[in-house]
Amino acid sequence: MTIISGIEGKSVIVTGGATGIGRAAVEILLRNGASVTVGSRRQAVGHELLRDLEQHADRLQFVTTDVSAEADDQRLVSAALERFGSLDGAVNSAGMPPRGVPIHQMSAEQWAYSVSVNLTGLFFCVKYQMQAMMEAGRSGSIVVISSTAAVCTVPGSAEYVATKAGANGLVRAAALDAAAHQIRVNGIMPGAIQTPMFDAARGDNADFEPVIAAIPVGRVGTPVEVGAAAAWLVSDQSTYVTGVTFAVDGGGSLD
Ligand code: NAP
Repeated sequence: MTIISGIEGKSVIVTGGATGIGRAAVEILLRNGASVTVGSRRQAVGHELLRDLEQHADRLQFVTTDVSAEADDQRLVSAALERFGSLDGAVNSAGMPPRGVPIHQMSAEQWAYSVSVNLTGLFFCVKYQMQAMMEAGRSGSIVVISSTAAVCTVPGSAEYVATKAGANGLVRAAALDAAAHQIRVNGIMPGAIQTPMFDAARGDNADFEPVIAAIPVGRVGTPVEVGAAAAWLVSDQSTYVTGVTFAVDGGGSLD
């Protein structure tokens, strides 16, 4: 079990928290005493999460949320405030995988939908999370799950690379806007992490194999290894860290 102090009693939103990296963050946050509001689209997967973690039922709720819909993101923040009385942190993990379509074959609709989830949806989430913290006059910590694709790319992922590079920029800009309010905004760039998204992307794209073979530590990462970094950024262990996006990638982005 991952033990991180300075999390107990915090109310934290995790988008995309029913699976993969987000779910690992949810479990670490709960075990360290946070109350967690999870938002993602598939209600059945959310209910499965509530069943699996029913020992934490008094500190866990699921709200069906499409992050690309502004009203859903407002509702998610309201749900955290209503049920747990405050908002102290967020882990924004919801995201669309790379499409595996080269840019010259990508349609405007494919591009626009990925942008609406990975970048505009992220903007809405960060905006309403920051607003809630500012209006309450509370300090807070917002974490953005980006990707090493922001800094080193694979073929057929233009929309993913562009949105994740945009996410890194949003972290820096939001951190500056929020700093005087004692609200921190940081990002994590996972490398290859064994999750449903990773399996789906790898299955369709042989270009992933040399990237995986070249990971310096010699293996793919686990969701817990990213979730723990996110929980640390939420915690009071990292109170002087803001505006930073760091890689959790086994050294994959070093060259
Ligand atoms: P995952 O298990 O597929 O998680 C993605 C989550 O996002 C799912 O729970 C999904 O739930 C949710 N989601 C997708 N679209 C959404 C929308 N419009 N509104 C709300 N929720 C939405 O994969 P993961 O690997 O943990 O991905 C988490 C984050 O890590 C993503 O941002 C991804 O880009 C990033 N990342 C992953 C890797 C990797 O190797 N795994 C590497 C770099 C970065 P629903 O479908 O139910 O909505």
